[in-house]
Amino acid sequence: METEIERTTKTFIAPQTTEQKERSPLNHYINFRKSKHPVMVSKHLSKTQIRGMLNAGDVIINGDNANFPKFSETTFINQIDRMLDYMNEDDRAGLLALFTIFAFSPDFLIKFIMYLSKINNKFPDFIGAPLRMIDIGVRGVFFTMYYSKMDDPKQSSKKIFAELEYESKVVTNFKLQNNNTDHVQEVNSTHDVSKIYDQASTEQTRLKKLTVTQRLRYISALKDLILKKKEYIIDRIVEDTMKSRSDALFSEIFPVLDHLDFLEKNAKKLLKKQKIKTPIALLGKKSQVHYSPLGTILIISPWNYPFYQAIAPITTAFITGNTSIYKPSEYTPLYGLVEELLSDIGMEKFWVQVIYGDSSTGKLLVEGNPDKIFFTGSLSTGKKIMAEAAKTVTPVELELGGKDPMIVFETANLTRSVAGATWGAFTNSGQSCTSVERLLIHESIYDQFKNQLVKATKKIKLSNENSKDSDIGAVYIDAQKQIIIRHLEDAIEKGATVLTGNSWDRKSNLIPPIILEDVTEDMMVYKDETFGPILPIFKFYDETHAIKIANDSIYGLSASIWGNNKEQLERVTSALETGNISVNNVMLSEGNHYLPFGGAKHSGFGRFKGTFGLQSFSNIKSVLYDGNSNKIEANWYPYTEKKYHLFSQVTEGLFGRGIKNFFKFLISGLKLEMYSDKVGKKGR
Ligand code: NAD
Repeated sequence: METEIERTTKTFIAPQTTEQKERSPLNHYINFRKSKHPVMVSKHLSKTQIRGMLNAGDVIINGDNANFPKFSETTFINQIDRMLDYMNEDDRAGLLALFTIFAFSPDFLIKFIMYLSKINNKFPDFIGAPLRMIDIGVRGVFFTMYYSKMDDPKQSSKKIFAELEYESKVVTNFKLQNNNTDHVQEVNSTHDVSKIYDQASTEQTRLKKLTVTQRLRYISALKDLILKKKEYIIDRIVEDTMKSRSDALFSEIFPVLDHLDFLEKNAKKLLKKQKIKTPIALLGKKSQVHYSPLGTILIISPWNYPFYQAIAPITTAFITGNTSIYKPSEYTPLYGLVEELLSDIGMEKFWVQVIYGDSSTGKLLVEGNPDKIFFTGSLSTGKKIMAEAAKTVTPVELELGGKDPMIVFETANLTRSVAGATWGAFTNSGQSCTSVERLLIHESIYDQFKNQLVKATKKIKLSNENSKDSDIGAVYIDAQKQIIIRHLEDAIEKGATVLTGNSWDRKSNLIPPIILEDVTEDMMVYKDETFGPILPIFKFYDETHAIKIANDSIYGLSASIWGNNKEQLERVTSALETGNISVNNVMLSEGNHYLPFGGAKHSGFGRFKGTFGLQSFSNIKSVLYDGNSNKIEANWYPYTEKKYHLFSQVTEGLFGRGIKNFFKFLISGLKLEMYSDKVGKKGR
């Protein structure tokens, strides 16, 4: 049974008091912009080459930071990239090699090389030509940095600098608008939607030309930036979600960095062309798999992990060469944060477009006909999206809800499994798709386990004060609170016993962890996803009974099994109908970014993360190479009786067993080849 949720949209209230103003996202943003530019990313230049280029810049035009900024402090890398885009490949390679040398050269050596490049006509051509290239290349780069905007390059340096400042102001203003609800990018009509998709599609033709190595530069820069700004990002997450700081650090910042780290270390290897075995029947040919982008990916995310659910799919789309349109949840949009981070690492504006709005915006974006939809959210929304996507045969990946079981056998370590259950059920206030929603305990340890669980749960520190030592924060969304109340009241009415959390007044958003006993099949809390801090506990009698209860759900997202009997753990792992399983741990299979993540049954389909995740954002092309000879293939026309006979012999020889058949295959194969070639060229 599904629960229909009534939603109210979060309204943005402009900060009134000084304290509120200081804590507002806008203020965070202003402070962030005031800080020194944290990273420079270029499509073409590595970090070392950027350093080399800036070294050379400081030698050629010594900045004084009054009229000219010092080159080593400039941030105008996009203009250089644009210039390098237009250079021919050999010249660009030469220039990059030179920048690498400059990175490690003292000033006098750079000066000397630049001096030689200026007097290039004094040398014979084989030395003069490369020197001329250096002169054009390096000066071209610096020219682009400082003069390209000017009609008259002879203008005073003061004016040039003013021009640069003006440009940075324009950028700043644009960014500030994103934090102001009056200017939030919202979609109101199909016309807006088609504009957004057009922009994405135009940019995708440029983005797909970047190599994976070039794209990885942005990924590395983003990783560095997020690491550097983690406390600021956590402030923003806590502000929007009211979760505990530790939950934001452990379950948003850390997994995002881990994901980016995975891409850094693996994307190049995983996305390169792969050699595939070619069978003997296709002797002389070669096979490969190529990974191409799909185009524009629409990413729609829920509200529970707004930072992770933005950055992980956006960067997966980016590294595979796709542009993306990202719609965050209307409840936890982190206004402006994603754009701010991406623009600070130099990403082009339309590579990733963040579109704010509620379900109606989501609907319009789905109707806009993307090349793939990556949806994370509830089952009921997933069904609607799938139905809409069917009209245009748009591929959909659905990451939906769960009702995850945790099975504790009598051989399990009690201390560890109790601590695991407490965390697995209540982390992020139970608002995780893979949080423990059903705890199944073997009857022989049930009472002991229950007592320890209740004791541990009562120690959980609940607070919304943004402190680093609170365990869980508030349930932020009112509609979610209403579901929790409904599930709880229904269970109590039908006879469940409340073991913890009974003091909750049903009004406060700070909901204490609630453990329920005597839960029966007719209760909502037995089958429906609660997505809150309620943990029903059950007694089971043997392995078969545990598997039966665990599989008694329409969902199959993840599960955990605890015990010390290896064969039993293996048997249960294979019997559970679920996409992810942690053994003697909880919610951890999703913590390994090398493993794929995704659901079974009504928890969705498709796999995200790991090798499968990169593949699922790619068009996987099978390519078979043959030589450009005049040979005619055996299965081409004309079909003749003799060919039929020979082909039949080849088939028997190839698939029959034993050495006799092998020789039959070789001899008939040779005859068939020669005959087919002859008859093919001559005709029947
Ligand atoms: P939701 O389905 O209400 O909303 C998710 C997103 O879809 C939001 O951005 C919303 O605006 C948008 N949306 C709503 N209706 C739409 C429509 N008709 N067309 C297009 N977009 C539409 O989900 P929620 O309440 O935000 O999130 C909670 C749910 O997400 C839970 O069921 C949870 O288990 C699930 N979830 C799953 C995973 C996973 O990886 N499997 C991860 C986190 C959350």
